[in-house]
Amino acid sequence: CGIIGFTGRTEAVPKLLDGLERLEYRGYDSAGVAVVSENGRLQVKKSKGRLSVLRELLDSQQPLSGNVGIGHTRWATHGEPNDTNAHPHVGQEGKIAVVHNGIIENYQEIKQSLIRKGITFSSDTDTEVIVQLLEYYYKKNENLMDAVYAVLNRIKGAYAMGILCSDHPRQMIAARKDAPLLIGYGKGENYIASDVTALLSHTRTVTYMEDGEVAVIAADQVQIFDRDRFQLEKEKHSIEWDV
Ligand code: GLU
Repeated sequence: CGIIGFTGRTEAVPKLLDGLERLEYRGYDSAGVAVVSENGRLQVKKSKGRLSVLRELLDSQQPLSGNVGIGHTRWATHGEPNDTNAHPHVGQEGKIAVVHNGIIENYQEIKQSLIRKGITFSSDTDTEVIVQLLEYYYKKNENLMDAVYAVLNRIKGAYAMGILCSDHPRQMIAARKDAPLLIGYGKGENYIASDVTALLSHTRTVTYMEDGEVAVIAADQVQIFDRDRFQLEKEKHSIEWDV
């Protein structure tokens, strides 16, 4: 339902929670965040219920520390609303985390083929096939962009997604098809969001992603590629209106 992502020089979690709060008006049944630290530690916290439940969970434990992170508010389509089905989802190797809006239509077929390869699923969501398939391809040749494109060529349906990988602790990856996603440009920090209202307190300079595009977003650099992996020069828009 709602996606936010941050990469910069300050802690990601407060930025993610702020973004998720601004997306609350859209409705959701659960919420979660994933953060990767400088030394490649990927951590996730998620829970069913309001954002306040997630905040309490985060406050009650060791703080999640990292300058890169993704967050999600879920509106369940596949799998009941519970803690395990909440996003972000993490692959069985614990290396990659994904948040996703939309529906993966051929998830059953992909899930069955991965189970036959010995991969263990932990949720009932369509989304988990994205991250398990990503890790499966990534394990083969350790090239994250190859893996991302291989996944996008295999899945059918609608998606906006944010991806973190513990081997790439300074960046996040974004992709979309038939679901909204935009990039927000800040000073020494950049964002992704499913809705511009999540970004307006941080930046008013944005680029709207188009179907088939993939973006690699670091604190100082944003690269956007089309479905054939050609790098694009995209126009930036300035948002003038107030919310
Ligand atoms: N289909 C996914 C799920 O049920 C994503 C739902 C959403 O867009 O929030 O987990």
